[in-house]
Amino acid sequence: MKKLFVLLLVLPVLAMGPLTRAEKTNFAETSTYADVMNFLWALRTESDRIHVKYIATSAEGRKIPLVIVSKEGIKTPREAKELGKEIVYIEANIHAGEVEGKEASLMMIRDLVQGKYDDLLENQVILFCPIFNPDGNEKFGKHRYSDNGPQLAGVRYNGMGLDLNRDFVKQETPEVMGLIRALMEWDPVLFVDMHTTDGSYHRHVVTWTPQFAPWTDEELMKYAWNRMFPGINQNMKAEGYDPIPHGGFMDRKKPEKGWLFWAVLARYGVNYVGLRNRFSILDENYARADFKTRVYGAYAFLKSIFRFTAVHGREMREIERRADLRAIKSYAGSFFPTEFGNKKLFEFSLKSYKFEIKKIPRKELSRYPSWFGGYLVKKTDEFKTYKMSYFAPIKPEKGITLPDGYIILPVVKDVVDILLRNGITVERLLKPLEMEVEEFRIDKIEASPLPFQGHHLKKFKGKYVKTRKRIPAGSYFVSLHQPLARLAAVMLEPLSPDGFAAWGLFDRVIVHEWGGRPWMIPVYRVSHRPKTKLLIMK
Ligand SMILES: [Zn+2]
Repeated sequence: MKKLFVLLLVLPVLAMGPLTRAEKTNFAETSTYADVMNFLWALRTESDRIHVKYIATSAEGRKIPLVIVSKEGIKTPREAKELGKEIVYIEANIHAGEVEGKEASLMMIRDLVQGKYDDLLENQVILFCPIFNPDGNEKFGKHRYSDNGPQLAGVRYNGMGLDLNRDFVKQETPEVMGLIRALMEWDPVLFVDMHTTDGSYHRHVVTWTPQFAPWTDEELMKYAWNRMFPGINQNMKAEGYDPIPHGGFMDRKKPEKGWLFWAVLARYGVNYVGLRNRFSILDENYARADFKTRVYGAYAFLKSIFRFTAVHGREMREIERRADLRAIKSYAGSFFPTEFGNKKLFEFSLKSYKFEIKKIPRKELSRYPSWFGGYLVKKTDEFKTYKMSYFAPIKPEKGITLPDGYIILPVVKDVVDILLRNGITVERLLKPLEMEVEEFRIDKIEASPLPFQGHHLKKFKGKYVKTRKRIPAGSYFVSLHQPLARLAAVMLEPLSPDGFAAWGLFDRVIVHEWGGRPWMIPVYRVSHRPKTKLLIMK
């Protein structure tokens, strides 16, 4: 009787709340860090379906919550595995000014916990990191002029002034390091990263793409575009939405020329996950849709994703396992593209507007930014649907054959730590050894004049030279016969456009104090395992 009384008291409260700050303010405001934590604890005290862990502590000292939602009260990856559940990982607020993913995640956590979509929790556990960049979130202001609400939102950067979605190769932030630990621990079948667009005008609330790096496993890419993209979009249609692939006009003054997605390198979270042979999704909601519309669009997108993974999760996991096996077996010795041109992927209908395009008179040119390209483009209110070709810079134009593995000299021990943190197998030479290697001799280094994310990005010109070298004891060997071979090659290959060399992580070795002339990259390519005793590092 007493129990029933308590239940009666609790039930109406549960059915109503808690409400997010966005819901409470009729979508005028977005949640603070304290709002998020209070919301999660309100749910936690009512239900065992939710557990909260922390993936990292931000530079300003905020603990970043990872919310585990399941029917069974699962707390660990092991429990999920024992119950045969797949895991889906949702991340929001990486760019803390882009806030509807955070609000939609909180609403979805509540609705899952309160049993609104029990069918979606039948086969899967859902992890949410609703406020991945809490330091950025708390710097409320009017930072994003293209966004149609909320009144105030945070900034793009984390507490170290870095863009977390450019940090997946150099890995300097506690947030990204924590996320990578969580990915390794839980090994989700799908990772979703939620953003808001900036740029082109159109009439679609949700735009998205799967993992996109040009070095990604082919079967993974095929399944993503041929099954996952249409499958999730079909679920979205049932919710009243019409998503398009994420991108922007290739040429502002000629909208019909094409729709381009350009962010294909490994530094972006979703592409990084793809290089781990796992599926991922970049969600970009349309900035100029009002805040409430964006929150509900993002919410419908999450539901549509979960509907897809509830049915296809197991099939996706099998593809990922096959990709792991293929990487072990056949990635070494394959073609590694280093320069790319635009590839046309498919066509789609873009619902947008007619634009008025005017050439800027020569004497007024200096008043506009150079990316305007000499033209003023004004959106009209007249609707227009464009037949669009979708492009991305993933067509290989130049490249090299991958070696069997890499020798890393002890002088760059710090990059070995990055490899190990990512779960890449590294072995260590216990004795010195002489062997034939390919050494990259640098002719020229082109460095960006201004720093980007704290680094002067570099392009190397030079050639590989076959030579016999004495490899000192304590050097490292990274075999490309491993599941994470794709990630290892992108990070280590001297000519990789998004590798350690490009980010300047070898800089102190490349130019010595008295040397002047560039020396060499401290990573050798080798055609077989060093024939000596190797110690696997942990
Ligand atoms: Zn963003």
